[in-house]
Amino acid sequence: MYLVDYHLHPYEHGKNKNYGINIMEDFVNQAVENEIREIGFSDHDEFAHKLDWEAMEYIKNHSPIPLKIGLEIDYIPGGEEEIKNKILKYEPDYTIGSIHYINGWGFDNPAFIDEYKGRDIDQCYQEYFELLRRAVNSGLFNIIGHFDIIKIFGYRPIRINVMDIIKPVLEDVRRRDLVLEVNTNGLNKPVKEIYPSLAILEMAFQFGIPITFGSDAHEAKRVGENIKEYAALLKKTGYKEIAVFNKGEVSFKKI
Ligand SMILES: [Zn+2]
Ligand SMILES: [Zn+2]
Repeated sequence: MYLVDYHLHPYEHGKNKNYGINIMEDFVNQAVENEIREIGFSDHDEFAHKLDWEAMEYIKNHSPIPLKIGLEIDYIPGGEEEIKNKILKYEPDYTIGSIHYINGWGFDNPAFIDEYKGRDIDQCYQEYFELLRRAVNSGLFNIIGHFDIIKIFGYRPIRINVMDIIKPVLEDVRRRDLVLEVNTNGLNKPVKEIYPSLAILEMAFQFGIPITFGSDAHEAKRVGENIKEYAALLKKTGYKEIAVFNKGEVSFKKI
């Protein structure tokens, strides 16, 4: 099986004081140990100016497995020009478009979890997927990250059916030739599910939408976590290929 882990954060939001070549090597070694055949570093675009691009290039050239340099980019409406300029500046192999804020509310951050209590959950879902749809249609991204992360703390919509609101988003993902990320980090969150859910992935397969994998590891020991298991499961759904990127160009490997 050709397994990839395209969602990795060696910079760890700046928390890791030892950030550098050694940390990056630990990520690569753990990938090899977990039989991951290709990886990608995808630290957040807000830290792009703090990343050690030279060290990443060095590791890329010395890694025993293909290593790509991507960016996970926060999509915020109105920020399109800024994002475009970052992509031109850093020329990542791929961009993961992610939503982490609804009108400034960091809804996936445990520090702001209380905010859910005062909110209409149906409306949270609608606003989240509307933002995601705008990200899909921005033309700025190769991969859509943690598609249904709004479920992170287990809050589910009451009156609306999630499948109804995600369907038009998936249609746009298909129309725009984007790739969906299967992110295993949801298993570590209160929701205890991958992003997106298997039901959404089944619909994505019917639509002909390609997938790739990411653990969202912020430390080396999580690299490749649960990817083999979910790749095997998705093979049963019908998925036979996985998307990889090189300077924005997609190609496919058999899983
Ligand atoms: Zn993210
Ligand atoms: Zn991430």
